Amino acid sequence: MAPGPRALLYQLRSLLRRREVDVWYDTAYRLPLSGLEFAGVEPRRADFAAWWLWESKAVAHPWWRTPRRISYADLSRLHTPQLLESLSRPETLAGVFGVDPSDVPVDEVMRTVRLAAGATLEGAREALRRRKPALNLLGGFHHAGPASAGGNCAVNDIGVAVATLRAEGFQGKVAVLDMDAHPPDGVALSLANDPDHWIGSLSASDWGSLPGVDETLLPPGTGDVEYLEALKALLGRMPRAELYFVIAGGDVLKGDKMGRLGLTLAGARLRDAAVVGHLGLSSAVWLPGGGYTANAWKVLAGTGMALATGSLDPIPEDYDPLATRFAGIARGLQVDLLSDAGELTDDDLAESLGMRPQRQRLLLGFYTAAGMEHALQQFGILDQLARLGYEHFRIEFDRAGPGERVRIFGEADGREHLLVETVVERRRVEGHPVLYVHWLSLRNPRAQFSERRPRLPGQDVPGLGLAREAGEMLALMALRLGLTGVAYRPAHYHTAFPSRDHFYFPDPQRQGRFEAMVRDLGDLDLLVATRAVDEGRVSLNGEPYAWEPDEMVFWLREPPAEPGEVAHERDRARFTVAPPPAAAPEAERP
Ligand SMILES: [Zn+2]
Repeated sequence: MAPGPRALLYQLRSLLRRREVDVWYDTAYRLPLSGLEFAGVEPRRADFAAWWLWESKAVAHPWWRTPRRISYADLSRLHTPQLLESLSRPETLAGVFGVDPSDVPVDEVMRTVRLAAGATLEGAREALRRRKPALNLLGGFHHAGPASAGGNCAVNDIGVAVATLRAEGFQGKVAVLDMDAHPPDGVALSLANDPDHWIGSLSASDWGSLPGVDETLLPPGTGDVEYLEALKALLGRMPRAELYFVIAGGDVLKGDKMGRLGLTLAGARLRDAAVVGHLGLSSAVWLPGGGYTANAWKVLAGTGMALATGSLDPIPEDYDPLATRFAGIARGLQVDLLSDAGELTDDDLAESLGMRPQRQRLLLGFYTAAGMEHALQQFGILDQLARLGYEHFRIEFDRAGPGERVRIFGEADGREHLLVETVVERRRVEGHPVLYVHWLSLRNPRAQFSERRPRLPGQDVPGLGLAREAGEMLALMALRLGLTGVAYRPAHYHTAFPSRDHFYFPDPQRQGRFEAMVRDLGDLDLLVATRAVDEGRVSLNGEPYAWEPDEMVFWLREPPAEPGEVAHERDRARFTVAPPPAAAPEAERP
């Protein structure tokens, strides 16, 4: 959270209200699957929620708990040996998470899954021991059954926790309240033979009747008021139990790719507050379940706030968890560890003129390769690359055409691969000094293109899934170098589209056309849209339209004024898309 009066007020209110709740979290909760965003999942959801709960002071320091991986002995209490055996194959995990098998580092994916299941079990033990709620920022894998995995659920953490507690002698009643948008088919299978349990669910997907589940099927698009009424009725039927599991699904939001409900963020918070009020000081483990919108992390963070402070305050609209987190890390980086200069000078000029041949190369006259590696470590980038299967990283700087090139190499499968390549330069755009990015390529050469993860124009191998982190780091580099913005020249619609919230074309007419294009093509799948543009099937006001690769700038200091010209051009421009000629696009692909 950026320091300021509003942030301080937020923190003060949190401090006054908060009550004890254990929050289980690990940085390895981020699944090491570089193609996950293609499957519609935000892999940083637990991180974003944890950072918010930490920075808003909703959750106090001693309540943060670090999970341990669940043992295979505990997993075996519920799951069949065949299922557990199959989870050691990339093909099985690829099917569970909707990615390509080449994208699956089995041990690291299973580490994420086992950490989450370990926390659900340990959270339940602690909740029982100390009669208080626990929140696990990953879990509620309610589609996995004893012999089946699927729907982002490799194992059933609730079923494993219950089976383990039973083996340890726990005899009390267990209640599972499932508020994910989908029915708890795997929980029903997992608890089928449990002697004393109840399962209740609110969902909007009709998967037929589930034996042993008190299921309320809501019509698609059900909004806050009707949902909260149905929840009240379900809570009225829920029996008293010694231990509760609450799946506070993030896929209840309107517009979710998978869920069919229509709640607002405020409605999701009221949902959680209602359950917190109903359960009081019972032993309960709260889990996030699914969530497939950009705001799904706010549902999870909101669950934490409902538990820890009872707050119904919305998370500020303009709070960007990644930008805030990275800016905080950047403030903590010591300048002398990044650079051998200590402070910013014009040494780059001296070096580029050959006046200082004896010194080592500095990127943009400032960063040493060692300093860059240190920063990449602090931002968590090297850890994530390691989880994707690379090691022994090496960073190289050199000159390349008009700019300076940074390359990050890593070893895998017995050889070195190029993972990141960028060419940057200080340059003036519209009279302002900016960090000009000539080229940025994030490469995961171990992964392969597939039906699930098609090749985008301009890609030679699949990406790393780290584009947002790279963008934040470039912005922070520009700030540290005293520059006023970051600029690049998107060669394709799909490279401009993700920048649409922060980057602007300086030419107002060009910006107006781009905004019209986002308006008219925004509902299409990004791959479909970018292929249509690249294949010349897009028309502007009835005339064939070719993509205009022009500079876009992210102004770090002051936002650009929006001249009337932008709106005028945006309203004038109408984009339409013709269907692809039969079979032709397929034939062109390698
Ligand atoms: Zn779901």
